[in-house]
Amino acid sequence: MSPSAIRVMKFGGTSLGSADRFRTVTDLVAEACATHRVCVVASAMAGVTNLLLHGGHVPNRDEADRVLAGFRARHAEVVAALAEDLGEKATIVREELDALEAIGRRLLHGMALLEEGPPSVLAQVSSLGERAACAILVGLLKARGLAPRYLDPVTHIHVEGDPLQARPKMAEIEASFQAVRAEAGGLWVLPGFFGGDAAGRILSLGRGGSDHSAALAAAALHAELLEIWTDVAGLYSADPTLVPEAFPLPEASFEEAMELSFFGAKVLHPKTIPPVRERGIPVRVCSSFDPHHPGTIIREEVPPPPSGVRGLSFLRDL
Ligand code: ADP
Ligand code: ASP
Ligand code: MG
Repeated sequence: MSPSAIRVMKFGGTSLGSADRFRTVTDLVAEACATHRVCVVASAMAGVTNLLLHGGHVPNRDEADRVLAGFRARHAEVVAALAEDLGEKATIVREELDALEAIGRRLLHGMALLEEGPPSVLAQVSSLGERAACAILVGLLKARGLAPRYLDPVTHIHVEGDPLQARPKMAEIEASFQAVRAEAGGLWVLPGFFGGDAAGRILSLGRGGSDHSAALAAAALHAELLEIWTDVAGLYSADPTLVPEAFPLPEASFEEAMELSFFGAKVLHPKTIPPVRERGIPVRVCSSFDPHHPGTIIREEVPPPPSGVRGLSFLRDL
């Protein structure tokens, strides 16, 4: 019997920070494929989006070349370290990375020439990290004997409005995923962080937006579970980088998770919960560095904690 329930697995930048991290992600996805149909949503490798956006400054030509050299080196290093894992798929992965770099060159040199970075161009530039990470991931999954299908966010995550803070068009996203759900295959790879408008242009969901992409895909695929794989073992009672005593919450309600994320808990993008909550899809926040830790389960009905306080978060520089 083929598994039919769908699990959406979103991997953040730190979960894709090195060749070893890519191996772990491939293992986790392969394991999930034994019991589920799986939609993988991937962020850019850690640091790549910041590199591409060049600190918000418009690069001159030399700076643009340095950004491109950094983009190339970061991915080439990982592909070289994964050469054995990728086997004959390494060639196509390298070609895809070259093609993305060429797109980046055109866009960044254009910005340097115009001394201007229009939001629509920045949205395209910033999408390159997710596309590169997914090219590597698709190669690795194929080399494992799996049959992933790449989903282009431009044709599946329909958005409109501000190119750097686009709004999803849920009815259209649902419609495009209806065909995906009906497919015989059971493994998809979707780059996070961006979608496409009616004219086929790339628009960004905003920084940290891959969580949002994953939630939109989970809702549209009627997934059984949305997993947010990150570098900490769940949603903590407070930011673990600031509060040493913070601990991962075994569970939290949608309402509590929404409040924590709206008020600064970076582990979940603030727009992640509403699309899945509407469909009653639970969210598991868990660590790719400690995959056997149960992490945090977020769902509708959760008994209140004895202290009355689930967690604390704060917004910097308010
Ligand atoms: P990813 O790259 O996986 O999307 P992020 O860096 O966006 O990861 O989010 C994970 C980080 O969120 C953690 O490393 C932690 O520093 C920070 N964080 C802030 N508040 C919380 C919290 N309440 N619980 C867990 N992590 C938190
Ligand atoms: N790579 C994007 C960012 O750095 C999106 C994400 O990580 O969710 O903002
Ligand atoms: Mg994040």
